[in-house]
Amino acid sequence: MALIVRKYGGSSVADLEKIRNIARKLVDLRREGNDLIVVLSAMKGETDRLINLAKEINPRPDPREMDCLVSIGEQTTVSLMAMTLIGMGQDAVSLLGHQARILTDNAFGSARIENVDASRMRDELKKGRIVVVAGFQGIDPDENITTLGRGGSDTTAVALAAAVSADVCEIFTDVTGVFTTDPNVVPKARKLDRISYDEMMEMASLGAKVLEIRSVEYAKNYNVPLHVRSTFSDEQGTMVVKEDKNMEKQVVSGVAYDKNEARLTVTKVPDRPGIAYKILKPISDANIVVDMIIQNTRAEDMTDITFTVPKKDFQTAMHLLQETAKEIGATRVLGDDNISKVSIVGVGMRNHPGVATEMFGVLSQHNINIMMISTSEIKISCVIDEKYTELAVRVLHDAFGLGKDPKEAHQ
Ligand code: ASP
Ligand code: MG
Repeated sequence: MALIVRKYGGSSVADLEKIRNIARKLVDLRREGNDLIVVLSAMKGETDRLINLAKEINPRPDPREMDCLVSIGEQTTVSLMAMTLIGMGQDAVSLLGHQARILTDNAFGSARIENVDASRMRDELKKGRIVVVAGFQGIDPDENITTLGRGGSDTTAVALAAAVSADVCEIFTDVTGVFTTDPNVVPKARKLDRISYDEMMEMASLGAKVLEIRSVEYAKNYNVPLHVRSTFSDEQGTMVVKEDKNMEKQVVSGVAYDKNEARLTVTKVPDRPGIAYKILKPISDANIVVDMIIQNTRAEDMTDITFTVPKKDFQTAMHLLQETAKEIGATRVLGDDNISKVSIVGVGMRNHPGVATEMFGVLSQHNINIMMISTSEIKISCVIDEKYTELAVRVLHDAFGLGKDPKEAHQ
């Protein structure tokens, strides 16, 4: 007997048949004596449909009204699920964000959960009901409906699990777990049994889309064990948990790639205080997120500055940079949106010297030129020509022994 929070993503509740299949499993689990809180996403494609409708009215719709609109996808699935359960003779109740008392700030479209008052949910559980909660939504201090950002139902599930001290938070999705890399690129990619919160956060920020990044951060802060697993099979998935000694034995846990960045360079900038600020300020004022930044000093008090931005912001960033370049007397602005970022991630890197060198060696053996490098304690990223992405991922995955059982892998 346990207190379980489960979350099902949009592809898991995409039609009534899928909802019925999940409901059957929930009924069995409840009959075994478990208490269940079930968080649902909107049906696959529904949130996009709503966003597109709003954009037909106005490309930049009013944020409050937008949240009121996009939250209805989840209202549909929770009520359908509760009805289905009741139809199967299992008492159940659907709760929207405000009814589950999920209190957020008022940042419409990307609200943060500030507090969850679990008393109503506990009361419903005591009555023997399965509690079905709408993911992705909450309520701000003025009782406006807010949403948490795309993929936000993961965070709802983790926040509820933390609030009720659940034994586990299970995230059901359309893949069987977290893999050493994208199985579409490397067919022998292996499912990880366990991964640490920090590794998962790095992988998520690098574009591995199994879990929404905020949910992992939240899980880490509240120490909520996450189990990522498939809706469509009973196999054990991947546990996302606190780091332990065993995890450090594996130097690299995963290889990730991201084709969604573009690179901009401004050359021969006068090397004096305030220049990096001048170059990057207009970019951040335009709400463009800069990822990597490199500054190279040349002779004669000149420097080059290179940075990356999301591909979708490339044109705007180029334009802003050209303006700044004129102002500060830089020689040239260069741009390249055919790049990708390939990264290796692993907590074991902290204690193993030479991992970066090994990565560079592997890429050079395959004649892949590195344009930029950045590192964190548990990650090394290289920017390369986009057309070598798959090759780089494959050879790195091999070189660090990721296709093999961890016990035999590279130490
Ligand atoms: N329905 C929302 C989205 O599509 C939230 C979620 O699915 O987690 O982003
Ligand atoms: Mg998701």
